[in-house]
Amino acid sequence: MTNVLIIYTGGTIGMVTDPKTGVLVPFDFDQITDNVPELKRLDYNFKVYSFDPLIDSSNMSPEIYMALVSLIQKNYEKYDGFVILHGSDTMSFTASALSFMIENLDKPIILTGSQLPVNGIRTDAKENLITALEIAAAKKKGKAVVPEVCIYFDYQLFRGNRSFKYNSDKFEAFRSPNFPVLAEAGVYLQFNKNDILKPGNVPVKFHKKLDSEIGVLKLYPGISPHIVKAALFSDCKAIIMETFGSGNTSTAKWFLDLIRIAISEGKLILNISQCKVGSVELGRYETSRQLKEMGVVSGYDMTFEAAVTKLMFLFGNIKNKKKIAELLETNLRGEMTLG
Ligand code: ASP
Repeated sequence: MTNVLIIYTGGTIGMVTDPKTGVLVPFDFDQITDNVPELKRLDYNFKVYSFDPLIDSSNMSPEIYMALVSLIQKNYEKYDGFVILHGSDTMSFTASALSFMIENLDKPIILTGSQLPVNGIRTDAKENLITALEIAAAKKKGKAVVPEVCIYFDYQLFRGNRSFKYNSDKFEAFRSPNFPVLAEAGVYLQFNKNDILKPGNVPVKFHKKLDSEIGVLKLYPGISPHIVKAALFSDCKAIIMETFGSGNTSTAKWFLDLIRIAISEGKLILNISQCKVGSVELGRYETSRQLKEMGVVSGYDMTFEAAVTKLMFLFGNIKNKKKIAELLETNLRGEMTLG
C-alpha cells in the first residue's frame, strides 16, 4: 500500500472568511476533508500533519523551511511521497529552498494550494489537491515517477526551483518558462519522463542550515549612486543583482567602480536577469564584459526564487567564498541551464 504524508501549512486552500473582518484566514484541515469527499475514495493511505498555527505563505521563513526538512526527514522512510499544502504567494521560494536542502531526493515532494478556498463553488482546490496526491503516489516498477520537489497547479507540474508565481488572479498561477513542464493532467496524467530528474544510487541527505543575509539590487535606468551604495554596502554577504536582458548593466564609471569595490571587500555579486525567459550571458555585450572580469558571478537562467534560496543554502553550509561562487555557477538540482 502506498503511503503519502500531507503537510498542511496554510494558504488560501483552507481559508475561510472571518465574518467580523471579511478577510480570509486559515482554517483547520477538516475544512478540506469536508469539502473533498473524494479523499475517502483514494486507493492509497494518507496521513495529515497540520502546522499550528496555520500560516499565510507571506509569513514563511528559513526557520519554517528547516522545520519542513526535519519533518520530511523524520517521516522519509515511512512514506512514499509528500504533498505540502501551501499558500501560492511564496510557494516557489519554499519549493526552491527544499530542493537545495534535500540532496539525492528519491521521493516526490509536491507543493500545491489554490487560488480560491476549498469551500468555494468554483474552487480550484479540489483538482489541485487530488492530482498532487496522485503524482506523489505515482510509481513505476516500485520507484517514484517524479522524485523531485515540484509545484502542481492548474493541470501542470513544474520543477519547483524553475517556477515562479506569475498570476494572482487566474487559476494558472505559476509558470516555468525556462524549463518544460514535468507533467500535464488531462484525461491522462502525462509525465514528461525525459526532463524528470533521475536519482542516483546515493543516500538522501538533509541539510538544515540556511543563511538569509542576502541583499538585492534591482537596476533601472537612472538609478543613483546612493541607492546602489545602500544595496552593495549593507550588512549582507551576497547581493543578487537583477540586470537587464542577458545580464547587462550601465557602464558608467561610478557604477563599475562601486561593483569593483564591493567585490574587493568580499561581497559576492550574483547576476540574474530581469527577463523571465532566457539566460545571463556575461561577455555577450560590452555592458557585461567588465562585470565578468571583475568577478561578478553568473546566475544563468535561474529564477529570483532559486537564486535567493541557493545563496541561503550555500552560505549556510559552506565557508569558502570561492567554493560558493563555483557552486553558484554549477547546476546542483536542475535549477539552471548552463550556457
Ligand atoms: N496569501 C495566500 C498565501 O500565499 C495566497 C494563496 O494561498 O494562494 O498564503
